[in-house]
Amino acid sequence: MGDILKVQGFTVLETNPADDDNEETGSKRKSRWSFLAPDATGSSPVWRSRISWRITLAVFGTIMIVQGAVLAFNVKSYEADKLNDLSELARAAITISISDTPGQSPISNSIAKRLFATTAVQGVAVYDNDFTPLTRYGKTPNVVPDAKPETPSQLRSADGLDYDVVFSPKNLSRPYHIAARIDSSNVDGMVTKQIHQTLVILLLLSGLVTSIMMLALGAWLLEPIMILRNNLLSAARNPEKPELQKPSVESRDEIGVAIRIANDLIRQNANNLKRLRSQAEDKIHKLAYYDNLTGLPNRTYFLEKLDDTIRHKVVEEDRRLAVFSVDLDHFKDINDTMGHEFGDKLLEAIGKRLVKCMPEDAMISRASADEFTIMVVLKPEYAESQMLIDRIFQAMGEPVSILQERFQVRVSIGVSHCPDDTMEARQLLKNSDIALNRAKEEGRDTVRFYSQDFDLAVQQRFQLLRDLRSALDENQLTLHYHPQFDLRTGQLIGAEVLLRWFLPDNSKDGGYYVSPAEFIPVAEQSGLIVPIGEWVLRTACAQIKAWQEMGIPPFRVAVNISGVQFHKADIVALTSDVLKTTKLDPKLLELEVTESVFMENMQMTIDILNQLHRLGVELAVDDFGTGYSSLSYLRQFPIDRLKIDQSFIRNALVNPDDRMITKTIINLGHSLNLKVIAEGVETNDHENFLKEEGCDEVQGFKYTKPLPVDKFRDYVVNYNREWAKKNRPALVDEKKA
Ligand code: C2E
Ligand code: MG
Ligand code: MG
Repeated sequence: MGDILKVQGFTVLETNPADDDNEETGSKRKSRWSFLAPDATGSSPVWRSRISWRITLAVFGTIMIVQGAVLAFNVKSYEADKLNDLSELARAAITISISDTPGQSPISNSIAKRLFATTAVQGVAVYDNDFTPLTRYGKTPNVVPDAKPETPSQLRSADGLDYDVVFSPKNLSRPYHIAARIDSSNVDGMVTKQIHQTLVILLLLSGLVTSIMMLALGAWLLEPIMILRNNLLSAARNPEKPELQKPSVESRDEIGVAIRIANDLIRQNANNLKRLRSQAEDKIHKLAYYDNLTGLPNRTYFLEKLDDTIRHKVVEEDRRLAVFSVDLDHFKDINDTMGHEFGDKLLEAIGKRLVKCMPEDAMISRASADEFTIMVVLKPEYAESQMLIDRIFQAMGEPVSILQERFQVRVSIGVSHCPDDTMEARQLLKNSDIALNRAKEEGRDTVRFYSQDFDLAVQQRFQLLRDLRSALDENQLTLHYHPQFDLRTGQLIGAEVLLRWFLPDNSKDGGYYVSPAEFIPVAEQSGLIVPIGEWVLRTACAQIKAWQEMGIPPFRVAVNISGVQFHKADIVALTSDVLKTTKLDPKLLELEVTESVFMENMQMTIDILNQLHRLGVELAVDDFGTGYSSLSYLRQFPIDRLKIDQSFIRNALVNPDDRMITKTIINLGHSLNLKVIAEGVETNDHENFLKEEGCDEVQGFKYTKPLPVDKFRDYVVNYNREWAKKNRPALVDEKKA
């Protein structure tokens, strides 16, 4: 049974030869005279077909030529017949009028007159057997009886009015020769009439023959050819779903067979194309909806399914749905240290474990590099998502064996619920991602359930990013300077440059300062830290140089360099350019980097630090003691200074651990020939403790808070003056000594 496919409003038949007699096929079978029926253009297809016209013209032309030739021949013989008839009538009339009485004229005057009055004869000349003229009446004929064979015995005048004939004894049965002039004026009229009649008949005949021929050709040849042409055209236009027609009468002649074969080929081609397309669609579906590595559905498929499940399970069946976003902790580090092959195998193994530990009807997908998303319709026995989360943590608790390595994996999980949090699939997934980010921010290896507060925080972050983008252009960024001192001499030896962002608003203060702790991470994540950091470096170096030129004794400027700037921007080229344009002594510039910078791509970091060192700038490790302190790197990197994190200083006097750490950092720094600076020095006690421990330099609120440009310049001038006053005697002593 053939399929009927609806295509753009009309029915396309997919028939098998066996189906030829069924109803559907019949509807596509052409009626016997369909080739005569007018189509959309208003004329019958036969009359629009070129071949039809050619055949018609050829047939019509041929008939006309043949009949024309026949007509030309017939006209001559018709004229001859008519003249013959005239001469026969004249001969008969003359024959019965001749008298054979000896001594008398064979035709008397009275007989001649009667002859002229009752027949077409208008003149006679009588000759005896030896051609001697005897009598003559009426018009004289132009022919003369003669024994010579070449002498004409009939002659028609040039104007066609007279026909002269010689009758001799064998057709007169008398011993005379008679030349007669016969009136032939009506012969031409009769010939013309005859031509007209013949022409009309000829045209009618040609038309009839052509029409009959066209009908026969139409039915046997043109209609099948047009069907073949239409089928081929349809196959060319729509090879997958061709509209195939059949002739009104299936014939076994050559063209009938050709149509059948062509239709079979077209159908075969359509089926092949359909099969290929469905295979390609399957493949595309797989590529579009599944993850190559784990074979799990991807985010797109997950979202579609989630949407579907919300509609059917939550809306219609009033069930609850949980979405878990599961992310591997520190996967990037694992990938970097163990290699991508290992990373891939790990992801595969994690995918399998998740599938195994979740209920059968849960959908587990790989949403991004190291993030899996799970959707579970909560059954009464799984009323609490916590139970499922415990299962995930339990499954991940088992070490994974890959390439003969046993590996402990930790995951962070974000959870959102439907309908509790939202009824919208995309939002539900977004919520679980937001909860996941929270879990990661709050220490990893943990789970967070989505709450609306998270949303607010995310929105605020986005707003902050939008504002930050315009901050540089709108001159909202400024620099504050925080002095650093030599702890032994109390001399002001440097200043750390700290970025300040004044964000205008409609409040009575006209705006507020956004904390660097809040906007620096946003700038780092968005990459904005690169242009901002460049601006900080250029502005700070230019400022220090300007102060020098104003006569302020030179001091060092410490600029914070973010890890992003360090790895993603060409910090060496930038520093070198800034030093060149400001003409600042490189020794007066210090770059502060945090320990995290050293963890990424060790060899590249060493190279960059060496290049910076070669430029002559100093390098300090900021917030030392809080990162992944690896003592080994301290030896390898060309560092000048360790900056003890302020948290240790703050607690050093109350917390023995922090006190111990501070002491240890100072000793470690000195053993490596590094200077040690403490930040966060707020009190005399802090300062005294650090002095006792032999710390080299200090920075903190005890001396001043970070100050804007002008205030800092005044501060420096005042401080130097006071310091010089206090230390003058000592300096004089030193000089004397
Ligand atoms: P950081 O580099 O460790 O800067 C020192 C921070 O400690 C500054 O905070 C400073 O005001 C504060 N501080 C110094 N002494 C004391 C003290 O005695 N008590 C207290 N409570 N705080 C003290 P700030 O300016 O809020 O900067 C925070 C962080 O933002 C900086 O930490 C640095 O990591 C980052 N940051 C600031 N400016 C820049 C910059 O231009 N570029 C980059 N990449 N990061 C910057
Ligand atoms: Mg710093
Ligand atoms: Mg610091």
